[in-house]
Amino acid sequence: MRVTFWGTRGSLPTPMNTHEFRIKAKRLLMNAVDLDLTDEAVVDTYLENSTIPHAMTFGGNTPCVEITENDEQIIIDCGSGLRVLGHTMMERSFKPGSRINIFQTHTHWDHIMGFPFFAPALTGNADIHIYGIHPNLKDRFDHQMDRIHFPITMDDMGATISFHQIKSEKTITLGNFTITSKALHHPGGSYAYKVESGDKSVVFASDGEYNNLSNVNPYVEFYRNSDVLIFDAMYATLEQTVEKENYGHSTAVIGIDIALQASVKKLILFHHDPECDDSQIAKSCSDARDYLMNRKSEYPDSKLSVVASFDGLVIDV
Ligand SMILES: [Zn+2]
Ligand SMILES: [Zn+2]
Repeated sequence: MRVTFWGTRGSLPTPMNTHEFRIKAKRLLMNAVDLDLTDEAVVDTYLENSTIPHAMTFGGNTPCVEITENDEQIIIDCGSGLRVLGHTMMERSFKPGSRINIFQTHTHWDHIMGFPFFAPALTGNADIHIYGIHPNLKDRFDHQMDRIHFPITMDDMGATISFHQIKSEKTITLGNFTITSKALHHPGGSYAYKVESGDKSVVFASDGEYNNLSNVNPYVEFYRNSDVLIFDAMYATLEQTVEKENYGHSTAVIGIDIALQASVKKLILFHHDPECDDSQIAKSCSDARDYLMNRKSEYPDSKLSVVASFDGLVIDV
C-alpha cells in the first residue's frame, strides 16, 4: 500500500507567509556559501540533506489522505488537500465515469472544505461514492454548498455522487481493501478507519481525544500491529491537552504511549495546530522522539518510529 498525504493541517488551511519563507531562504543561503549553486545536482542534494524545517514546510492544507494499492484507491476525508489531489488525479489521465471511493471520518468544516474544489467532481464526470457513519451525510455536504455559502451547489457538479451510511465497527470490502471503523471521542463524533490489504494495515485516527487515559484498551486493540497509525497530535504538550479538554484533540505523547502498547510500527503525527509554525511542529516531533527513546526500554521488541506528516509525504507500507 502507498499512503500519500495531501493535507495534514488541522482546523484551518495555514499557508506559510513571506516572513517565514524569508527566514528559511536566508538560512539556506547563508549555509550554502561553500557550495556551487550553479550545479543543480549539488542544490538538490543540499536541500535533501538540510535540517528540517529549513528546506520544507509542514501542512498548509487540511486533512486529506490517499491510500493506493496498484490501481485501486481510497481517499480519506475531503479537507482542502483534496483540491490538490483532484488536479493530480486529472493529470493521471483520469477517465470520465471512473469510480472514486471516499471515506469521511466526520463532517467538521476542515474535513469537507475541499470537496467543492475537487476537479473529478466538477469536470471529470466521476462516479463518486462517499462513505461515512454519520447520518444525513448528503445533507451535510449539500449544506456546505448551499448558495449562501458557495456559488455552485452539489447538483451543479458534473459527477454522480452517492452517499453510503455504514455501521461503525462493521468491516466492508472494496476491491483488495477491507475497511473497518471505530468511534473516537470528538465533538459531534468522529471515526477512525483501519484500511487493510493483504497482511498490511494503515489506521487513520485523526480528530480524537483520549479523555480517559486509564482505559485506552479499546483503541489499543483497534490499532494493534498496524504498520502505520496516523494520529491526532494537534497539541504540542500534555498541558495544552488538559487546557483544551473536550475540544476533541490529542498529543504526540499520548500517541506514543498507545502505539507502544499496540505494537504499531510507524506513528504519523497529524492534524497540526494552525497556531504552530514549522519550527514548533519540528520541535514537537523532536520532543516526541526523545520521549519515545525514554519509553522504549519498557518495550524492547518495539519497532516504533515517529514521523511528523507534511503535505506531499509518501509512505510505502
Ligand atoms: Zn479536524
Ligand atoms: Zn473535527
